[in-house]
Amino acid sequence: MLGIILLGPPGAGKGTQAKKISGEFAIPQISTGDMLREAVKNGTEMGKKAKAFMDQGGLVPDEVVIGIVKDRLQAPDCGKGFILDGFPRTIPQAQALDRVTSDLKKEIRVVLSLEVDETELMERLCGRRTCTGCGAMYHVKFNPPKAQGKCDKCGIALIQRDDDKEETIKTRLINYKKMTEPLLQYYKGTGKIRSVMATGDIGAIYANIANILR
Ligand code: ADP
Ligand code: ADP
Ligand code: ZN
Repeated sequence: MLGIILLGPPGAGKGTQAKKISGEFAIPQISTGDMLREAVKNGTEMGKKAKAFMDQGGLVPDEVVIGIVKDRLQAPDCGKGFILDGFPRTIPQAQALDRVTSDLKKEIRVVLSLEVDETELMERLCGRRTCTGCGAMYHVKFNPPKAQGKCDKCGIALIQRDDDKEETIKTRLINYKKMTEPLLQYYKGTGKIRSVMATGDIGAIYANIANILR
């Protein structure tokens, strides 16, 4: 059971690295951010509840995200493992995850802590672009698509996320420090945490991660 948690501030590269791990190790990426954005797009009850928090750069209430993850972990494709990208983000979420994994007889093998300087995070998030078709991640400067504004894989238009605006990013970074950073301490006690320097070449960072996982 290869259960992985990707920890790190907004812009650390969790989504970028999760997609690579998912491809090579054949385990699903579970991104609470993606699932919440999907719910908002579809106008579900949960989406309506979540939208206001997301637009302001706040965190969606614990019980909502815990519910999503609990359901998702029971899907058949999580049988061999899974990559949690953006969850847990608070201590109560981490505690709930401990209960859920134990109930479902699943196991978190490793917690990868992606480390990036705060000044770089802002630049990364301001230039982030996402494919509306396949979810691939780009950056206008650090990881540009071959044709401007279009996905390399499917040719579909790239968009900028509504919450990737300077003011909202600032709030998200403050919330990260306050609510999510304490998780580093929480997981230190388990002996499962590995820190990964997450600046520089995307492929080189992935090579380090793959080494840890093998
Ligand atoms: P990023 O990694 O750029 O911060 P995500 O796509 O992971 O963004 O999350 C986008 C937004 O979705 C967050 O700012 C937050 O409002 C909400 N969200 C995602 N995951 C969680 C979570 N585990 N707990 C609470 N809110 C979440
Ligand atoms: P997260 O999911 O942690 O919020 P992303 O994977 O979405 O982070 O990456 C944020 C932005 O930074 C994207 O535009 C991505 O292309 C870019 N990025 C990811 N890894 C690197 C890296 N090693 N160097 C420079 N930019 C990167
Ligand atoms: Zn695409």
